[in-house]
Amino acid sequence: MITLIHTTLGKVLSLIFPDRCAGCDKNGDIFCKECVNKTRKNPRSKASVLFLDRLYHWGIYENEILSRALRRFKYYGASGLSDIFSDLLVKLIEPDMRFFAGKVIVLAIPASIARKKSRGYNQAELLAEKFSKKTSLEYFADVLIKSKNTTSQTSLAGRERLFNQKDSFAVLNPEKIKNKKIILVDDILTTGATLSEAARVLKEAGALEVTGLVVAK
Ligand SMILES: [Zn+2]
Repeated sequence: MITLIHTTLGKVLSLIFPDRCAGCDKNGDIFCKECVNKTRKNPRSKASVLFLDRLYHWGIYENEILSRALRRFKYYGASGLSDIFSDLLVKLIEPDMRFFAGKVIVLAIPASIARKKSRGYNQAELLAEKFSKKTSLEYFADVLIKSKNTTSQTSLAGRERLFNQKDSFAVLNPEKIKNKKIILVDDILTTGATLSEAARVLKEAGALEVTGLVVAK
Protein backbone atom coordinates (compact mmCIF):
# COMPACT_ATOMS: atom_id res chain seq x y z
CA MET A 1 0.00 0.00 0.00
CA ILE A 2 2.74 2.40 1.03
CA THR A 3 4.61 1.56 -2.18
CA LEU A 4 1.48 2.22 -4.20
CA ILE A 5 1.00 5.60 -2.56
CA HIS A 6 4.65 6.38 -3.12
CA THR A 7 4.51 5.48 -6.80
CA THR A 8 1.33 7.43 -7.36
CA LEU A 9 2.68 10.38 -5.44
CA GLY A 10 5.88 10.16 -7.43
CA LYS A 11 3.96 10.23 -10.67
CA VAL A 12 1.92 13.23 -9.56
CA LEU A 13 5.02 15.03 -8.37
CA SER A 14 6.91 14.36 -11.57
CA LEU A 15 3.99 15.88 -13.46
CA ILE A 16 4.06 18.99 -11.29
CA PHE A 17 7.83 19.21 -11.05
CA PRO A 18 9.17 17.50 -14.14
CA ASP A 19 12.77 16.59 -13.42
CA ARG A 20 13.57 14.48 -16.42
CA CYS A 21 15.28 15.92 -19.47
CA ALA A 22 12.91 16.28 -22.42
CA GLY A 23 15.75 15.16 -24.71
CA CYS A 24 17.53 12.26 -22.99
CA ASP A 25 15.27 11.43 -20.01
CA LYS A 26 18.16 11.89 -17.58
CA ASN A 27 17.14 13.03 -14.11
CA GLY A 28 17.95 16.57 -13.13
CA ASP A 29 17.03 19.23 -15.64
CA ILE A 30 13.85 19.67 -17.66
CA PHE A 31 16.07 20.07 -20.77
CA CYS A 32 19.73 19.46 -19.98
CA LYS A 33 22.60 21.61 -21.33
CA GLU A 34 24.16 18.73 -23.29
CA CYS A 35 20.90 18.15 -25.12
CA VAL A 36 20.28 21.85 -25.76
CA ASN A 37 23.79 22.13 -27.24
CA LYS A 38 22.97 19.36 -29.71
CA THR A 39 19.92 21.21 -31.06
CA ARG A 40 21.38 24.37 -32.56
CA LYS A 41 21.61 24.56 -36.32
CA ASN A 42 21.43 27.23 -39.05
CA PRO A 43 20.57 30.01 -36.67
CA ARG A 44 19.86 32.61 -39.33
CA SER A 45 18.33 32.21 -42.72
CA LYS A 46 16.95 34.51 -45.38
CA ALA A 47 13.20 34.42 -45.15
CA SER A 48 11.76 32.34 -47.93
CA VAL A 49 8.35 32.70 -46.39
CA LEU A 50 6.03 35.04 -48.24
CA PHE A 51 5.35 38.34 -46.40
CA LEU A 52 8.12 37.70 -43.85
CA ASP A 53 11.11 40.06 -44.00
CA ARG A 54 13.37 37.85 -41.92
CA LEU A 55 13.24 34.47 -40.29
CA TYR A 56 15.17 33.22 -37.28
CA HIS A 57 15.06 29.62 -36.20
CA TRP A 58 17.09 27.99 -33.45
CA GLY A 59 17.20 24.49 -34.89
CA ILE A 60 15.54 22.11 -37.25
CA TYR A 61 12.62 19.85 -36.48
CA GLU A 62 14.46 16.83 -37.95
CA ASN A 63 16.75 17.03 -34.92
CA GLU A 64 15.35 14.24 -32.76
CA ILE A 65 16.19 15.82 -29.44
CA LEU A 66 14.64 19.13 -30.40
CA SER A 67 11.47 17.60 -31.83
CA ARG A 68 11.04 15.47 -28.71
CA ALA A 69 11.34 18.50 -26.46
CA LEU A 70 8.96 20.52 -28.62
CA ARG A 71 6.39 17.73 -28.59
CA ARG A 72 6.61 17.57 -24.84
CA PHE A 73 6.19 21.33 -24.68
CA LYS A 74 3.18 21.24 -26.99
CA TYR A 75 1.23 18.20 -25.91
CA TYR A 76 2.19 17.26 -22.38
CA GLY A 77 1.86 20.58 -20.66
CA ALA A 78 5.54 20.94 -19.84
CA SER A 79 5.18 24.70 -19.89
CA GLY A 80 8.40 25.04 -17.84
CA LEU A 81 10.19 24.38 -21.12
CA SER A 82 9.06 27.83 -22.25
CA ASP A 83 11.78 29.26 -20.00
CA ILE A 84 14.51 27.36 -21.81
CA PHE A 85 13.07 27.85 -25.29
CA SER A 86 12.60 31.60 -24.74
CA ASP A 87 16.25 31.78 -23.60
CA LEU A 88 17.25 30.20 -26.91
CA LEU A 89 15.17 32.73 -28.84
CA VAL A 90 16.88 35.59 -27.00
CA LYS A 91 20.31 34.12 -27.74
CA LEU A 92 19.34 33.75 -31.37
CA ILE A 93 18.27 37.32 -31.96
CA GLU A 94 20.61 39.15 -29.58
CA PRO A 95 23.51 39.60 -32.05
CA ASP A 96 21.14 41.35 -34.46
CA MET A 97 19.31 43.52 -31.96
CA ARG A 98 20.60 46.64 -33.71
CA PHE A 99 18.39 45.82 -36.71
CA PHE A 100 15.43 46.13 -34.44
CA ALA A 101 16.25 49.62 -33.22
CA GLY A 102 13.23 51.85 -32.96
CA LYS A 103 9.72 50.73 -32.32
CA VAL A 104 9.59 46.96 -32.13
CA ILE A 105 6.79 44.93 -30.67
CA VAL A 106 6.41 41.23 -30.00
CA LEU A 107 3.36 39.20 -31.04
CA ALA A 108 2.55 35.48 -30.90
CA ILE A 109 0.75 33.22 -33.32
CA PRO A 110 -2.57 32.76 -31.55
CA ALA A 111 -4.29 29.45 -30.92
CA SER A 112 -8.02 28.98 -31.29
CA ILE A 113 -9.89 29.43 -28.02
CA ALA A 114 -11.05 25.81 -28.17
CA ARG A 115 -7.51 24.50 -28.55
CA LYS A 116 -6.15 26.78 -25.88
CA LYS A 117 -8.86 25.60 -23.50
CA SER A 118 -8.14 21.93 -24.10
CA ARG A 119 -4.39 22.42 -23.64
CA GLY A 120 -4.56 25.04 -20.91
CA TYR A 121 -2.03 27.31 -22.59
CA ASN A 122 -0.77 28.41 -25.98
CA GLN A 123 2.92 27.57 -26.34
CA ALA A 124 3.57 30.46 -28.77
CA GLU A 125 2.09 32.98 -26.33
CA LEU A 126 4.15 31.59 -23.47
CA LEU A 127 7.31 31.93 -25.57
CA ALA A 128 6.47 35.45 -26.76
CA GLU A 129 5.62 36.65 -23.28
CA LYS A 130 8.85 35.35 -21.76
CA PHE A 131 10.91 36.52 -24.73
CA SER A 132 9.51 40.04 -24.38
CA LYS A 133 10.27 40.14 -20.65
CA LYS A 134 13.85 39.02 -21.23
CA THR A 135 14.45 41.54 -24.05
CA SER A 136 12.33 44.38 -22.60
CA LEU A 137 10.46 44.58 -25.89
CA GLU A 138 6.76 45.29 -25.65
CA TYR A 139 4.37 42.34 -26.09
CA PHE A 140 0.71 42.60 -27.02
CA ALA A 141 -1.66 39.66 -26.54
CA ASP A 142 -4.66 41.57 -27.86
CA VAL A 143 -3.60 42.38 -31.43
CA LEU A 144 -3.32 39.21 -33.51
CA ILE A 145 -6.27 36.87 -32.98
CA LYS A 146 -7.72 33.77 -34.61
CA SER A 147 -10.80 34.72 -36.57
CA LYS A 148 -12.11 31.21 -37.13
CA ASN A 149 -11.32 27.69 -36.01
CA THR A 150 -9.05 26.03 -38.52
CA THR A 151 -8.51 22.30 -38.77
CA SER A 152 -5.32 21.16 -37.06
CA GLN A 153 -2.47 21.85 -39.50
CA THR A 154 -0.74 18.54 -38.92
CA SER A 155 -3.60 16.62 -40.55
CA LEU A 156 -3.41 18.53 -43.85
CA ALA A 157 -1.15 18.46 -46.88
CA GLY A 158 0.82 21.52 -48.03
CA ARG A 159 -1.65 23.00 -50.49
CA GLU A 160 -4.57 22.43 -48.14
CA ARG A 161 -2.65 24.14 -45.37
CA LEU A 162 -2.36 27.34 -47.36
CA PHE A 163 -6.05 27.23 -48.14
CA ASN A 164 -6.90 26.33 -44.57
CA GLN A 165 -5.09 29.41 -43.27
CA LYS A 166 -6.99 31.79 -45.50
CA ASP A 167 -8.70 34.48 -43.45
CA SER A 168 -7.88 32.73 -40.20
CA PHE A 169 -6.29 35.75 -38.50
CA ALA A 170 -7.60 39.16 -37.65
CA VAL A 171 -5.97 42.26 -36.18
CA LEU A 172 -7.51 44.06 -33.25
CA ASN A 173 -6.29 47.49 -32.13
CA PRO A 174 -4.36 48.15 -35.37
CA GLU A 175 -3.08 51.47 -33.96
CA LYS A 176 -0.74 49.41 -31.78
CA ILE A 177 1.14 48.03 -34.80
CA LYS A 178 0.93 50.91 -37.25
CA ASN A 179 4.43 51.56 -38.69
CA LYS A 180 5.96 49.20 -36.14
CA LYS A 181 8.48 46.44 -36.69
CA ILE A 182 7.07 43.18 -35.47
CA ILE A 183 8.75 40.10 -34.09
CA LEU A 184 6.28 37.28 -34.58
CA VAL A 185 6.87 34.26 -32.34
CA ASP A 186 5.83 30.65 -32.86
CA ASP A 187 7.23 27.34 -31.66
CA ILE A 188 7.53 25.49 -34.99
CA LEU A 189 7.46 26.56 -38.61
CA THR A 190 6.22 23.76 -40.85
CA THR A 191 5.19 24.89 -44.33
CA GLY A 192 5.32 28.56 -43.34
CA ALA A 193 1.65 29.00 -44.25
CA THR A 194 0.68 30.10 -40.76
CA LEU A 195 3.45 32.69 -40.34
CA SER A 196 2.95 33.90 -43.88
CA GLU A 197 -0.76 34.48 -43.47
CA ALA A 198 -0.27 36.20 -40.12
CA ALA A 199 2.42 38.47 -41.59
CA ARG A 200 0.17 39.33 -44.52
CA VAL A 201 -2.69 40.32 -42.23
CA LEU A 202 -0.35 42.37 -40.02
CA LYS A 203 1.10 44.27 -42.97
CA GLU A 204 -2.34 44.90 -44.34
CA ALA A 205 -3.18 46.43 -40.96
CA GLY A 206 -0.19 48.80 -41.17
CA ALA A 207 2.85 46.94 -39.78
CA LEU A 208 6.14 48.17 -41.25
CA GLU A 209 7.91 44.80 -41.30
CA VAL A 210 7.53 41.36 -39.82
CA THR A 211 10.32 39.09 -38.57
CA GLY A 212 9.54 35.46 -37.82
CA LEU A 213 11.12 33.93 -34.71
CA VAL A 214 10.69 30.20 -34.13
CA VAL A 215 12.40 27.46 -32.17
CA ALA A 216 12.48 24.98 -35.04
CA LYS A 217 11.64 24.75 -38.68
ZN1 LIG B 1 19.27 15.69 -21.89
